[in-house]
Amino acid sequence: MGNESRTGHIEIRKLRKRYGPHDEPAVDDIDLTIESGEFITLLGPSGSGKTTTLNMIAGFVQPTSGTIRLNDRDLAEVPTHKRNFGMVFQNYALFPHMTVFDNVAYPLRQRRLPREKMRTLVGDILALFGLGGMESRKPDQLSGGQQQRVALARAVVFSPAVLLLDEPLGALDRKLRQSLQAEVKRLHRDLGLTFVFVTHDQDEAMFLSDTIAVFNKGRVERVGTPGELYDDPGTLFVAGFLGEANVFAGSLVDPTTYLWMDRKWRVAGPERAGDTVLVVRPEKVRVFDLESVPEGWNSTPAVVTDRSHLGAVCKVDMTFPDGSTGSATMPTDAAVTVRPGESVLAAWEPGAQAFVLPEQA
Ligand code: ADP
Ligand code: MG
Repeated sequence: MGNESRTGHIEIRKLRKRYGPHDEPAVDDIDLTIESGEFITLLGPSGSGKTTTLNMIAGFVQPTSGTIRLNDRDLAEVPTHKRNFGMVFQNYALFPHMTVFDNVAYPLRQRRLPREKMRTLVGDILALFGLGGMESRKPDQLSGGQQQRVALARAVVFSPAVLLLDEPLGALDRKLRQSLQAEVKRLHRDLGLTFVFVTHDQDEAMFLSDTIAVFNKGRVERVGTPGELYDDPGTLFVAGFLGEANVFAGSLVDPTTYLWMDRKWRVAGPERAGDTVLVVRPEKVRVFDLESVPEGWNSTPAVVTDRSHLGAVCKVDMTFPDGSTGSATMPTDAAVTVRPGESVLAAWEPGAQAFVLPEQA
């Protein structure tokens, strides 16, 4: 296969899907650019349009309007089986009556590869996935993790330009899921293909991705690296969906003063117009006795409702004066004296906060 077929640059413009004439759009005029070789994750809650978007890229679902281009070619002209995409979908299981070898060889047979070449490719890919020696087993003689490895092997054996994955690890237990996440990440590094991965699991998205596109109600709400989205989530929805956030909905009195309840906090001021909600990540918050907050930190009174040991850190849950709840995650040593029922000051350095847009109607 030539180099060109390995390039997987995808441009999505004004893409929309309405399943029925009276339905809300499942995907609502989204724009997304996916660089060749990038690992991008479509992250969002159930029903936000991730699978519909992936199915339009794959060609299983016809867009209502908009375009998807692969390396400058409009995919509207390209039928599903000619798109040459690898796929690992929730409902795209292994063939139960075929051996591991035949499952993985299937895409190569469809492409009429010579027998010798096929044996070599399948052997290499099975070795890469630690499945050597299992060629003649049937899927029901494999563990769940091994079955998913076979599905991955089958999806990449023909050197596709793009690999599409829809919650491929969703059915696995936590430990197995984590070990397969590491394999998927290694696979991406080794193969250099464009990966488009769908999940509703923010930790999985953070672990795997070069870029995350956060979906909300059929729209792409924000796109960025895991670090960008975490530190500067942009919207209240993203702040809450990607990690936890303490949310203080107050107002800017002037560019350097934020008013929340009767507290005045020093801020650097938001860079985007309309950003009026102040958010602070729990690991930036510390809990102090009423007198001992460090000079210059912003703070609010709080009542501790719970303290839980999470292993590496302790989590302190609190209620704030407006009745809202929040939390601080801090080193166990620092949290050891905090007791439920106690009145404290929750505080953070002024640089630790971010500003986001309020929830859109
Ligand atoms: P996600 O993968 O993020 O959970 P989906 O793309 O599956 O979201 O669904 C987005 C919206 O489209 C949901 O409201 C869902 O009910 C609707 N939807 C999905 N598939 C169909 C379909 N085949 N027919 C009608 N509505 C659908
Ligand atoms: Mg889905």
